Amino acid sequence: MSFLNTAVAALLPALAVAQSLQVPVVSLSEGATCGCAQLSSTFGNKTIFSNSTAYATEVIDFWDVRSDLAPACIFEPSSASDVSSALQILAGCGTQFAVRGGGHMNYPGANNINGGVLVSLAALDQNIVDAESQTIDVGPGSRWVDVYDALDEYGLYTIGGRMKTIGVPGLTLIGGFHYFINKYGFTMDNVLSYDVVLGNGTQVVANKTDNFELFWALKGGANNFGLVTNFKLQAYPIANVSITYQNFNESAIEDFIGATVDLVNNDGPELAAGSVITIQYNATTKEVTSFIMGMQEGTESPPSRFDAFSKIPSTSTMNAVMSPKQWHANLDTPNQMFRVQFAHKTMIPDADQLYRIYQGWKDAVDSISDVEGLYPTFVMNIVPKSALSVAKNNGVGNVWGLDDSQSYIIWQFSTGWANAEDDIRMTSWSRSLLDYWHQENQLMGLAHEWLYMGDAGEFQDPYVTFPRENVERMRQVRSDYDPLGVFTRLNWGGFKLSR
Ligand SMILES: Cc1cc2nc3c(=O)[nH]c(=O)nc-3n(C[C@H](O)[C@H](O)[C@H](O)COP(=O)(O)OP(=O)(O)OC[C@H]3O[C@@H](n4cnc5c(N)ncnc54)[C@H](O)[C@@H]3O)c2cc1C
Repeated sequence: MSFLNTAVAALLPALAVAQSLQVPVVSLSEGATCGCAQLSSTFGNKTIFSNSTAYATEVIDFWDVRSDLAPACIFEPSSASDVSSALQILAGCGTQFAVRGGGHMNYPGANNINGGVLVSLAALDQNIVDAESQTIDVGPGSRWVDVYDALDEYGLYTIGGRMKTIGVPGLTLIGGFHYFINKYGFTMDNVLSYDVVLGNGTQVVANKTDNFELFWALKGGANNFGLVTNFKLQAYPIANVSITYQNFNESAIEDFIGATVDLVNNDGPELAAGSVITIQYNATTKEVTSFIMGMQEGTESPPSRFDAFSKIPSTSTMNAVMSPKQWHANLDTPNQMFRVQFAHKTMIPDADQLYRIYQGWKDAVDSISDVEGLYPTFVMNIVPKSALSVAKNNGVGNVWGLDDSQSYIIWQFSTGWANAEDDIRMTSWSRSLLDYWHQENQLMGLAHEWLYMGDAGEFQDPYVTFPRENVERMRQVRSDYDPLGVFTRLNWGGFKLSR
């Protein structure tokens, strides 16, 4: 293997344009043996093996228990140049590898690998604020709470994850739903520049003036092009947010769904406001509960954008004004609580049909009530059309290519359970239920095909729902920037653009 490594290293300057070169085709174990040995000899204790306690901590640093796998070794870079050297080693050895940012993408193989190399980005956790330009440079080892903490000192805020510990890189590379998308667009629309290490080790900057095609492709195109070592994000002077947290029981569900449709249809960009909206059903006690966490820019309390919810009798309501940092500090979603299957579809907002889908979901949950540790949640993510106007009008766009003439609601099943024996059953359950109701929506003219990677199950393919010309454009970017296919053949986990 060392001869291939030397050969690849010698060719490095030419690789960016050499379309036909490929990394060596070797077995998983041969590639891993070569990669781990070279990483270990080059980087010493930044490469850890299964005999260390650090390894034991790293292999469970995932949100979903299903993501816990057994890599041959774990590499922990602390600089972009470490990443560059490591990628040259991995490409030269033909080593299969996975990359983990915050570890929240919840299916096996998205961010971990059995028998290959796991690249853990935790040490690349810079958060550097430039108060004058109102920007922040963020490393891919950061969680959103770190970003909000760093900005707080300057009365600034940005458009990232809604919960506390979600990772920055995964969310930013797939789109990014924040509360304030209705005014500021998605997280990807707020990235001014990316530092990227390509599959051949070359370090490039992608922004409006340099490597524009790569800049565009990274806005929703995920992990197909390179490893991002820094995101420069736009920040905004938002020192206070007005929160409403309202809980409801089953008698309120129809009105609750109606209020959700009201919100998406009336969430215009003049006032930044958005939500997390979920319904939970306990199939043992037969109890239904739901809640909205609403957040609005400024100090008006209760926040008026959520009036449609406030009119419904709740079981409890909390309204408060606080800094974004204080709000996010409360929103923990601890690692390793469940095995979880996400599954979703998109539709044109229609309260009656959404209520029917909710009822169908609840009935279907009853049919799996014997599953141990069952934790079923029905989630509604709103996409007001003004959120789509941002990319349409910013001179860059993004890979989704969604028009801003229509608002949407993503309806999602997030289903937790306890035991591996139920994995196949739970996926099959989610899938068939999803397809049935999506077909109903198709027949009623309410379906939209677009899928969001952050809410998708591993059996769903978001890329086939993007405009064909955008897919072809991403494929071109991939062959221009990763002609070796390092991020397709060797780093094959996650949502991947087809060959
Ligand atoms: C509890 C929970 C709450 C969520 N809330 C939201 C929300 O509010 N808004 C929203 O939009 N989404 C949300 N999501 C979805 C979330 O955005 C995705 O799971 C996202 O991938 C998480 O980012 P991460 O860095 O933690 O992911 P990881 O699992 O670490 O990575 C995700 C993918 O990106 C790749 N990757 C990671 N870092 C890099 C890098 N630097 N360069 C190239 N590729 C990289 C990984 O290899 C992997 O394939 C939520 C998910 C969970 C589980």
